Amino acid sequence: DSGPKKEELQRITDLMDGFKASKALFTASKLCVFDLLHSRPGLDAAQMAQEIKASAKGTERLLEACVSLGLLKSEERTCQKPVYENTDLAKRFLRSDAPYSLHGYIQHCDNTVWPLFSHLESAVREGTHQHERAFGKKSNDVFQDNYYKSQEIKLRFLNAMHSIARVTGKDVATAFDLSTYKTACDVGGCTGAMAYEFTKAHPGLSVTVFDLPAVVEMNQHFHPLHEDNRVSFVAGDFFKDELPKADLYILARILHDWPDEKVHMLLSKIAQTCTPGCGLLLSEIFLDEDRGGPSRGLLQALSMGQGKQRSAADYSRLLKSHGFITAHVRHMSDNFLDAMLCVKVTHITLDD
Ligand code: SAM
Repeated sequence: DSGPKKEELQRITDLMDGFKASKALFTASKLCVFDLLHSRPGLDAAQMAQEIKASAKGTERLLEACVSLGLLKSEERTCQKPVYENTDLAKRFLRSDAPYSLHGYIQHCDNTVWPLFSHLESAVREGTHQHERAFGKKSNDVFQDNYYKSQEIKLRFLNAMHSIARVTGKDVATAFDLSTYKTACDVGGCTGAMAYEFTKAHPGLSVTVFDLPAVVEMNQHFHPLHEDNRVSFVAGDFFKDELPKADLYILARILHDWPDEKVHMLLSKIAQTCTPGCGLLLSEIFLDEDRGGPSRGLLQALSMGQGKQRSAADYSRLLKSHGFITAHVRHMSDNFLDAMLCVKVTHITLDD
């Protein structure tokens, strides 16, 4: 044995240090470091410490770590302390008011996903999510029992979904030719961020966002300007209530949250509302057929409760049993999400 190779050690070190990098990003984001450096580029560590009401020593360490991660740039000036500014990456994704800001999602990772992952060993031993251990609350339905019970947690979760949808929505909306559809229903469409991407991309399309009442009542908060009157909102429970009629149903990041029985309940409801020729656009992370990746999907699964990650073929099978035949699949490795477009047929033979 010639001893450890450089690349091998690097890979292991990156994995061991990954959580430190994540937490440095979460903390800088929570303390508004990127927002402050946007409005006042060129602060030094002591000035930043004063602004964020933190210790000079701790702030300096955080800023240096962010430089090493490519989130900040520092400039050494002769005989003076280094000053800091955002890198292009931070300008685009980390400022809270940037168009593609991931600030909301980062805060969700810090406040919700991080505590769940700190109980990963129990999750593995028990095969369940760890909301009760992490937050002291029992939850059968994470949305209704956990996220929407308090206004603060609800807003944080909705901000997280909103920010991801704004970043990924355009690629999902433009993945397929949807010109034959006039009306769409975004089932579990949350704040409507994805719906607005669909109406922007397809001038002839109107979208009804269907989500729980606790979510729909917040739509003014996310779209105070009524950007587009082709987007409307209907409140209801997609397991119990009637769904709005449409010729295209959108299911973005919905099915992975539920076990097969619940997926069947929801799909049969959509199938009942659909006429032949109706479309169903599904967007999720699609696992490779051998379940060997992508790790983003497999790592997300570690904190899941009753849901599960599936491959494109797994989703196609579920959809086919409700008369939706997969027409196109798009793996979008440069996006957070993949997508497939299915069409409702009148009659199917299950062993096709
Ligand atoms: N589709 C959005 C997107 O891609 O940004 C949001 C995805 S989020 C993971 C799941 C959404 O499903 C949430 O907005 C949640 O409120 C909604 N949801 C969960 N259970 C629901 C139910 N029983 N009826 C209606 N909507 C529900």
